[in-house]
Amino acid sequence: MPTTVKRPIRFTRRVTDINVSPTLAVLNRATELTAQGVDVVDFGPGEPDFQTPRRVAEAGKQAIDRGFTKYTNASGTRALRDAVANRYNERYGTHVTYEHVICGTGGKQELFNLALALVSDGDQVIIPTPCWVSFPDQILFAGGEPVFAPSRASNHFRPTVEEIESLETDRTRGIILNSPCNPTGAVMREEALREIVEWCAARGAFLIFDETYEFFVYDGNRHASAMQWFDEFPETIMCVNSMSKTFAMTGWRLGYAVAHPDVISAVGKIQSHSTSNPSSIAQMASLEALRGSDDEVHRMYEAYVERRAWLVPALNRIKGIHCNPPDGAFYVFPEVKSFYGRGGIRDSQTFANYLLDEARVAVVPGGAFGNDDYVRISYATSMERLREGVARMETALAKL
Ligand code: PLP
Repeated sequence: MPTTVKRPIRFTRRVTDINVSPTLAVLNRATELTAQGVDVVDFGPGEPDFQTPRRVAEAGKQAIDRGFTKYTNASGTRALRDAVANRYNERYGTHVTYEHVICGTGGKQELFNLALALVSDGDQVIIPTPCWVSFPDQILFAGGEPVFAPSRASNHFRPTVEEIESLETDRTRGIILNSPCNPTGAVMREEALREIVEWCAARGAFLIFDETYEFFVYDGNRHASAMQWFDEFPETIMCVNSMSKTFAMTGWRLGYAVAHPDVISAVGKIQSHSTSNPSSIAQMASLEALRGSDDEVHRMYEAYVERRAWLVPALNRIKGIHCNPPDGAFYVFPEVKSFYGRGGIRDSQTFANYLLDEARVAVVPGGAFGNDDYVRISYATSMERLREGVARMETALAKL
């Protein structure tokens, strides 16, 4: 019998350098508790609690019935890429065509592909924080170095060119902006965004602009998209968007990027050797979503407006919590640091653990997004659950 020597499995730097999403730790515990029959109020999810609009889902069913179930062009069907291009042209008067568009398996995949296409070993990419958890790890995976530019709470966490330019080095390759922002809800003002676009263009740096939450902007704020200047800066601006949040289509996995045709070709090459086309069925559903009326999206929006209007003052009534009304997305980002030092709470992680243990309420620690004084609460859940969760939080925090 040959003797087998047990050896550790060897992994690449690509894997050892990145982390499992830290947002998942508390949420995984919440899911386990729920599975055990515990009634947890889950403020974690980053996905709409609504169903995909019926006409959109019907289009997906029809794709199956009609046998539209085969490979498509690896970058997406011509019809869907045209529909994305038209949407931008109608909105911003740009002149983009299907050659500027690639459709993939979620916005996340296009962000990932862009990082792989644009970032070489040692390149620095500036990311304003708090930021969505995947941005830094995607840059690390590509061999680059994320450089964090903390945004100020006093400026509602809206990034500024000054915060970014102070971090410039000869290795700066680009910037990732996300507006409306997950987790803070910050919506960039047009002037500040223009300054950053010009700053990037002057240096030949790329600007990846993630507008996944573009539809969810409140209180008379307006979503400013970098795409409005695309024709002026086609080598600089790379926009990523998604069907997930706007159309409540998270599980369909369909997102897209709009960029210079050379960038789209580069990203397309990567995609052609990894996932190939996004699901043909999801593409048909997305085409219907983009071409049809936005009525159901408006109904979802109205529900978010109502929830946010109730939630922000309700949180501020809890002693020790300070919550600015966020400009957009479907998250609030309250400051909770006044509880640190009490009842074993040291940081946002232990705060979230306390809430889960004491109140059976799941929130996401702000440390995961780059600011440990805060937690993220999603209001993509019913008013009833919001009321229940906030009442439980109030009781549990009063004990501290
Ligand atoms: N960008 C941001 C800021 C997000 O929050 C998310 C999802 O949570 C995505 C991109 C990716 O969404 P999807 O891959 O579902 O299109």
